[in-house]
Amino acid sequence: LKSPYHGGHLEVIVGPMFSGKSEELIRRVTRAVIARQRVQVYKPAIDDRYHAAAVASHAGRTVDAVAVRGAADIRAHLAGEDTLLRAEPPPLPDVVGIDEVQFLNGEVVPLALELADQGVRVILAGLDLDFRAEPFGWMPDLLARAESVEKLTAICTVCGAPATRSQRLIGGEPARFDDPVVLVGALESYEARCRVHHVVRS
Ligand code: ADP
Repeated sequence: LKSPYHGGHLEVIVGPMFSGKSEELIRRVTRAVIARQRVQVYKPAIDDRYHAAAVASHAGRTVDAVAVRGAADIRAHLAGEDTLLRAEPPPLPDVVGIDEVQFLNGEVVPLALELADQGVRVILAGLDLDFRAEPFGWMPDLLARAESVEKLTAICTVCGAPATRSQRLIGGEPARFDDPVVLVGALESYEARCRVHHVVRS
Protein backbone atom coordinates (compact mmCIF):
# COMPACT_ATOMS: atom_id res chain seq x y z
CA LEU A 1 0.00 0.00 0.00
CA LYS A 2 1.89 3.05 -1.25
CA SER A 3 1.24 6.22 0.68
CA PRO A 4 1.60 9.52 -1.16
CA TYR A 5 3.48 10.86 1.88
CA HIS A 6 7.11 10.20 2.73
CA GLY A 7 7.18 8.69 6.21
CA GLY A 8 4.60 9.32 8.92
CA HIS A 9 1.62 11.59 8.50
CA LEU A 10 -1.81 12.44 9.85
CA GLU A 11 -5.11 11.61 8.08
CA VAL A 12 -8.38 12.90 9.54
CA ILE A 13 -11.87 11.65 8.58
CA VAL A 14 -14.77 13.85 9.75
CA GLY A 15 -18.47 14.40 9.18
CA PRO A 16 -21.77 14.13 11.06
CA MET A 17 -23.18 10.95 12.59
CA PHE A 18 -24.02 8.23 10.03
CA SER A 19 -21.67 9.76 7.43
CA GLY A 20 -19.56 6.59 7.25
CA LYS A 21 -16.54 7.72 9.26
CA SER A 22 -16.17 4.33 10.97
CA GLU A 23 -16.72 2.59 7.61
CA GLU A 24 -13.96 4.67 6.01
CA LEU A 25 -11.58 4.05 8.94
CA ILE A 26 -12.30 0.31 8.74
CA ARG A 27 -11.74 0.39 4.94
CA ARG A 28 -8.33 2.09 5.24
CA VAL A 29 -7.22 -0.13 8.12
CA THR A 30 -8.33 -3.33 6.34
CA ARG A 31 -6.29 -2.37 3.27
CA ALA A 32 -3.22 -1.76 5.45
CA VAL A 33 -3.67 -5.23 7.00
CA ILE A 34 -3.92 -6.75 3.49
CA ALA A 35 -0.63 -4.97 2.71
CA ARG A 36 0.86 -6.83 5.74
CA GLN A 37 1.42 -3.66 7.71
CA ARG A 38 1.31 -3.63 11.49
CA VAL A 39 -1.93 -1.93 12.47
CA GLN A 40 -3.32 -0.91 15.85
CA VAL A 41 -6.79 0.59 16.28
CA TYR A 42 -8.15 2.36 19.37
CA LYS A 43 -11.48 3.78 20.43
CA PRO A 44 -12.80 5.51 23.56
CA ALA A 45 -13.95 3.08 26.24
CA ILE A 46 -17.23 4.97 26.79
CA ASP A 47 -18.45 4.03 23.31
CA ASP A 48 -19.51 0.40 23.59
CA ARG A 49 -22.26 0.67 20.98
CA TYR A 50 -21.61 -2.82 19.60
CA HIS A 51 -18.47 -4.49 20.99
CA ALA A 52 -16.18 -3.75 23.88
CA ALA A 53 -13.04 -4.15 21.78
CA ALA A 54 -13.96 -3.54 18.14
CA VAL A 55 -14.70 -0.52 15.98
CA ALA A 56 -18.12 -1.09 14.39
CA SER A 57 -19.89 0.85 11.66
CA HIS A 58 -23.66 1.42 11.70
CA ALA A 59 -23.83 -1.02 8.77
CA GLY A 60 -22.22 -3.73 10.92
CA ARG A 61 -18.60 -4.05 9.69
CA THR A 62 -16.05 -4.36 12.47
CA VAL A 63 -12.30 -4.30 13.05
CA ASP A 64 -10.41 -5.25 16.23
CA ALA A 65 -9.67 -2.34 18.52
CA VAL A 66 -8.53 -1.62 22.05
CA ALA A 67 -10.90 0.46 24.17
CA VAL A 68 -9.03 3.26 25.97
CA ARG A 69 -9.94 5.98 28.49
CA GLY A 70 -7.59 8.60 27.00
CA ALA A 71 -4.36 9.32 25.14
CA ALA A 72 -2.31 8.12 28.13
CA ASP A 73 -3.80 4.63 27.72
CA ILE A 74 -2.78 4.64 24.04
CA ARG A 75 0.75 5.70 24.98
CA ALA A 76 0.96 2.93 27.60
CA HIS A 77 -0.42 0.32 25.21
CA LEU A 78 2.01 1.30 22.41
CA ALA A 79 4.89 1.16 24.92
CA GLY A 80 3.87 -2.39 25.82
CA GLU A 81 3.21 -1.43 29.43
CA ASP A 82 0.24 -3.78 29.60
CA THR A 83 2.57 -6.72 28.97
CA LEU A 84 4.63 -7.90 31.96
CA LEU A 85 8.31 -8.91 31.78
CA ARG A 86 8.98 -7.21 28.45
CA ALA A 87 12.69 -6.48 27.98
CA GLU A 88 12.26 -3.55 25.61
CA PRO A 89 9.34 -1.59 24.13
CA PRO A 90 7.77 -3.18 21.02
CA PRO A 91 8.29 -1.46 17.65
CA LEU A 92 5.66 1.15 16.76
CA PRO A 93 2.91 -0.06 14.40
CA ASP A 94 3.00 1.15 10.79
CA VAL A 95 -0.57 2.41 11.14
CA VAL A 96 -2.45 3.71 14.19
CA GLY A 97 -6.20 4.29 13.81
CA ILE A 98 -8.48 5.97 16.35
CA ASP A 99 -12.28 6.14 16.05
CA GLU A 100 -14.57 8.67 17.83
CA VAL A 101 -11.49 10.78 18.51
CA GLN A 102 -13.65 13.72 19.69
CA PHE A 103 -14.54 11.68 22.82
CA LEU A 104 -10.91 10.95 23.87
CA ASN A 105 -9.11 13.96 25.37
CA GLY A 106 -7.03 16.90 24.11
CA GLU A 107 -3.82 14.96 24.73
CA VAL A 108 -4.61 13.03 21.57
CA VAL A 109 -3.34 16.02 19.52
CA PRO A 110 0.31 15.95 20.70
CA LEU A 111 0.20 12.13 20.67
CA ALA A 112 -0.95 12.01 17.03
CA LEU A 113 1.74 14.52 16.00
CA GLU A 114 4.45 12.61 17.89
CA LEU A 115 3.47 9.34 16.23
CA ALA A 116 3.41 10.96 12.77
CA ASP A 117 6.85 12.49 13.44
CA GLN A 118 8.09 9.00 14.36
CA GLY A 119 7.01 7.60 11.00
CA VAL A 120 3.53 6.27 11.84
CA ARG A 121 0.56 6.71 9.50
CA VAL A 122 -2.07 8.06 11.90
CA ILE A 123 -5.74 7.80 10.83
CA LEU A 124 -8.25 9.61 13.04
CA ALA A 125 -12.04 9.57 12.62
CA GLY A 126 -14.49 11.76 14.52
CA LEU A 127 -17.23 14.39 14.53
CA ASP A 128 -16.17 17.81 13.24
CA LEU A 129 -19.26 19.48 14.78
CA ASP A 130 -21.27 18.90 17.96
CA PHE A 131 -25.10 18.74 17.99
CA ARG A 132 -25.23 22.57 18.03
CA ALA A 133 -23.09 22.60 14.84
CA GLU A 134 -20.21 24.16 16.81
CA PRO A 135 -16.65 22.91 16.21
CA PHE A 136 -16.06 19.89 18.45
CA GLY A 137 -13.28 20.31 21.05
CA TRP A 138 -9.81 19.66 19.62
CA MET A 139 -11.08 18.54 16.18
CA PRO A 140 -10.29 21.93 14.52
CA ASP A 141 -6.71 21.62 15.79
CA LEU A 142 -6.38 18.15 14.28
CA LEU A 143 -7.98 19.25 11.00
CA ALA A 144 -5.53 22.14 10.68
CA ARG A 145 -2.50 19.96 11.37
CA ALA A 146 -3.45 16.97 9.19
CA GLU A 147 -1.81 16.19 5.84
CA SER A 148 -5.12 14.83 4.60
CA VAL A 149 -8.72 15.66 5.54
CA GLU A 150 -11.81 13.88 4.28
CA LYS A 151 -15.19 15.44 5.05
CA LEU A 152 -17.97 12.89 4.61
CA THR A 153 -21.70 13.59 4.44
CA ALA A 154 -24.66 11.48 5.53
CA ILE A 155 -28.20 11.65 4.11
CA CYS A 156 -30.60 14.20 5.66
CA THR A 157 -33.43 12.26 7.30
CA VAL A 158 -35.88 15.07 6.37
CA CYS A 159 -35.13 15.83 2.70
CA GLY A 160 -32.52 13.36 1.44
CA ALA A 161 -29.90 16.04 0.71
CA PRO A 162 -26.29 15.58 1.85
CA ALA A 163 -26.25 15.94 5.65
CA THR A 164 -23.39 17.81 7.31
CA ARG A 165 -24.82 18.05 10.83
CA SER A 166 -26.00 15.81 13.69
CA GLN A 167 -29.51 16.60 14.96
CA ARG A 168 -29.97 15.86 18.66
CA LEU A 169 -33.53 14.98 19.66
CA ILE A 170 -34.76 14.76 23.25
CA GLY A 171 -38.12 13.06 23.56
CA GLY A 172 -38.50 13.55 19.77
CA GLU A 173 -37.97 17.37 19.98
CA PRO A 174 -34.86 19.26 18.81
CA ALA A 175 -32.48 19.73 21.75
CA ARG A 176 -31.82 23.19 23.21
CA PHE A 177 -28.43 24.86 22.87
CA ASP A 178 -27.94 24.65 26.65
CA ASP A 179 -29.15 21.09 27.17
CA PRO A 180 -26.49 19.14 29.07
CA VAL A 181 -24.38 16.87 26.89
CA VAL A 182 -25.18 13.92 29.17
CA LEU A 183 -28.87 13.58 30.07
CA VAL A 184 -29.70 10.88 32.58
CA GLY A 185 -32.99 9.10 31.96
CA ALA A 186 -34.03 11.16 28.92
CA LEU A 187 -35.07 9.49 25.69
CA GLU A 188 -32.43 10.85 23.37
CA SER A 189 -31.62 10.18 19.73
CA TYR A 190 -29.59 11.59 16.85
CA GLU A 191 -30.35 12.06 13.14
CA ALA A 192 -28.24 13.24 10.23
CA ARG A 193 -29.53 16.60 8.88
CA CYS A 194 -28.61 19.17 6.22
CA ARG A 195 -28.05 22.86 7.09
CA VAL A 196 -31.69 23.71 6.31
CA HIS A 197 -33.22 20.99 8.49
CA HIS A 198 -30.80 21.16 11.41
CA VAL A 199 -32.57 22.81 14.36
CA VAL A 200 -31.08 24.06 17.63
CA ARG A 201 -33.61 25.60 20.02
CA SER A 202 -32.33 28.53 22.09
P1 ADP B 1 -20.30 7.19 11.37
O1 ADP B 1 -19.06 6.49 11.89
O2 ADP B 1 -19.98 8.42 10.57
O3 ADP B 1 -21.35 7.46 12.44
P2 ADP B 1 -20.90 4.61 10.22
O4 ADP B 1 -19.72 4.22 9.38
O5 ADP B 1 -20.99 4.00 11.59
O6 ADP B 1 -21.00 6.21 10.30
O7 ADP B 1 -22.27 4.24 9.48
C1 ADP B 1 -22.55 4.64 8.17
C2 ADP B 1 -23.73 3.81 7.70
O8 ADP B 1 -24.90 4.19 8.40
C3 ADP B 1 -24.11 4.01 6.25
O9 ADP B 1 -23.32 3.24 5.36
C4 ADP B 1 -25.57 3.54 6.22
O10 ADP B 1 -25.63 2.16 6.07
C5 ADP B 1 -26.05 3.84 7.64
N1 ADP B 1 -26.98 4.99 7.76
C6 ADP B 1 -28.03 5.05 8.61
N2 ADP B 1 -28.66 6.23 8.54
C7 ADP B 1 -28.02 6.97 7.61
C8 ADP B 1 -28.18 8.32 7.08
N3 ADP B 1 -29.17 9.15 7.51
N4 ADP B 1 -27.31 8.74 6.14
C9 ADP B 1 -26.33 7.90 5.71
N5 ADP B 1 -26.13 6.66 6.16
C10 ADP B 1 -26.95 6.17 7.11
